[in-house]
Formats: sequence, C-alpha cells, structure tokens
Amino acid sequence: MSTQKPLDSQKLAERLRKKSIDRQARAIRMTKFPGSAQATDLSLPPNCGGFGRIHHFRLEPDPNWVTNPLPTLPTCKYLGLPVTDVLLAQVFQLSACDFRCWYCFVDFSLLTADPKHSDMVTPKQLLQMMLDEKVNSQVIDLSGGQPELVPEYVLWFLEARKELGLEQSHFVWADDNLSTDYTWRYLSEAEITFMAQSHGFARVGCLKGFDAESFTFNTRADGALFDQQIELLGRFVAAGFDQYGYITITTMNTDDLPGKMARLLDEIQKRVHSNFPLRIVPLRIFGFNANVNRYIQQAEANQFRALEAWLAEVQRRFSATELSTPITEVNIRR
Ligand code: SF4
Repeated sequence: MSTQKPLDSQKLAERLRKKSIDRQARAIRMTKFPGSAQATDLSLPPNCGGFGRIHHFRLEPDPNWVTNPLPTLPTCKYLGLPVTDVLLAQVFQLSACDFRCWYCFVDFSLLTADPKHSDMVTPKQLLQMMLDEKVNSQVIDLSGGQPELVPEYVLWFLEARKELGLEQSHFVWADDNLSTDYTWRYLSEAEITFMAQSHGFARVGCLKGFDAESFTFNTRADGALFDQQIELLGRFVAAGFDQYGYITITTMNTDDLPGKMARLLDEIQKRVHSNFPLRIVPLRIFGFNANVNRYIQQAEANQFRALEAWLAEVQRRFSATELSTPITEVNIRR
C-alpha cells in the first residue's frame, strides 16, 4: 500500500525541466544506463555510448493478458513490414519524471535529472550514434522518465530525423505520461503542427489508473491530475496527432470495478473521441530488479480483475466488427 507522502508533481515537473534542457545548444538530459539497476534487467547491453537500449516489444506479453499491438502495428504499417511477434526498438530515456509509480521499471535515481546517471546530448548526436553503430532497428522509442517535461525532445528528434534523411526508414514512437501540458506551454503552434503532421510518427499517452484513487495509488501524485490526463489525451487528438493510449489498472481497491470502468469510458468517449477506447491497450505490470523493493504483489494480482471489468465494458460499447478493427485503422478524426 502506498503510505508515502503525496508528491507535488507540478512543482517537481518545473524543477526537472530546468535541469533537463539547454535550448541554445538544443541539448537534453538523457539517461546513461551503465551501473543502474535497470541495466541488470536489460537482455542486451546498453548501446549508443550508454544512452541507448534495445527493447523487445512483444505482441503477447503474457498468455493471460490481452495482446499488445503497440507500437508493432503502427511501425510495421509505416515501414511496410509484415507484423512480427517481437519488434526490436531503439530506446532513449529522458532522465526525469514527475511521477513516482511503485511499479516503474526505471530506478528512481534515473528520474531526477541527476548528472551521475545522465548527460546533456542532442537528438542529432543520438541518431548519429545509432547510425554509426549500425543498430538493427527501424523504430526509435522516445521514452523516459516523462518525455513531455521537455517537449523539445520529440520535436528536435523529428527535425534531426528529417535532416539526416531518415524519415522513410525510421519510425518514431513517443511515450507520454500525460502529466503536463508542456507541449502547448513551451512549443509554438508551428512546431506542434510540424510534429502532428510528421509521417512515421505516433504518440502514446498512459493513463495511470482508472479513477483518481487508483491514479494516486499508482503515481503518488494528486488525484485531480487524473482528470487532466483525459483532458490532455483529448488535446493531442484534437491537434491531429496519431495518438494511442495505454492504461495501467493496478489497484488495491476492487470495489465496483464495473461501475468505475463504465464512468471512465464515458469520460474518454465524451472528451477524447467516441472511438478512442479502441486505441487504448491495458498494460500488464510486471516485477523487475529495478522495482523489487517497492513492488506491491496484491495490486499486481488485482490488475487481472480490473482487466476483466475493462474488457467487459469495452465489449458492451463496441460491435464485434469494431473490436476486431486493427488499432491503426481506428478512426479518431472528427
Ligand atoms: S510515469 Fe513512467 S517513468 Fe514516471 S515513475 Fe511512472 S512508470 Fe516511471
């Protein structure tokens, strides 16, 4: 059970942003993996000068869970590749996050923009390292931490991809924990439009619970920010991004899960898009070396009950044809 004091995530976000960007040099503070607990969870050694790692995205993360087509389907569609069970992605992590999820598979020491575990680097340098090492991946996952603390991270990556002539060959997938509105606060309208219209680029935003209570339990942040997560998803969809969603449904409170999922889906359909639930994938939470000391077994077990309630509610709202539509083909335009 989360007994730690609540987090002032909004203040933390501003502090971390300041430590994570040098606008003049177009550099951002990125995690260096060697020596971290997260590095002991990696199946391949870190690459790209310690700034990168290769992640295996699996369509079937667990036979008892739902299929996870993200980011495999959007990537394979863009690159014209057959859909594969395991997709190798080049991952880079911003070294800061304003949430503190008990299940996070990143060491908390890699979330504080700490120079001991990170360095300033430009997206172009990271892409160049990837090319120099001839990395066997055509998908780049811009992750964290919370990448949105520095929305310039994704913008500058997309600009560098264009400059290096990699737009056709490399798909970019950006994670977002939906904690801030920094895209609108720190980028110009022209920059947002450039990102939204970039081909071979999609975003995923993660709902960190199914209501304010489960959100606070999972992240330690103020429950009012759960509502903001839904609002932000709506803003990204309205701005024209190729937007997807994850949801983590770990909880200690299993009372009235069907009712809570129904209320959540009402909000998503009303405020994001009526079809958006079909673009959301529940994420299976797993234990790792990096989270062993804060892992909550009961909450992990309860996610299966929450999944049942989520699936029942989604099935109640959509036809068999809609439910079998590939996630990339779910229309979210008005
Ligand atoms: S939002 Fe993501 S990166 Fe941040 S603590 Fe939670 S799981 Fe970790």
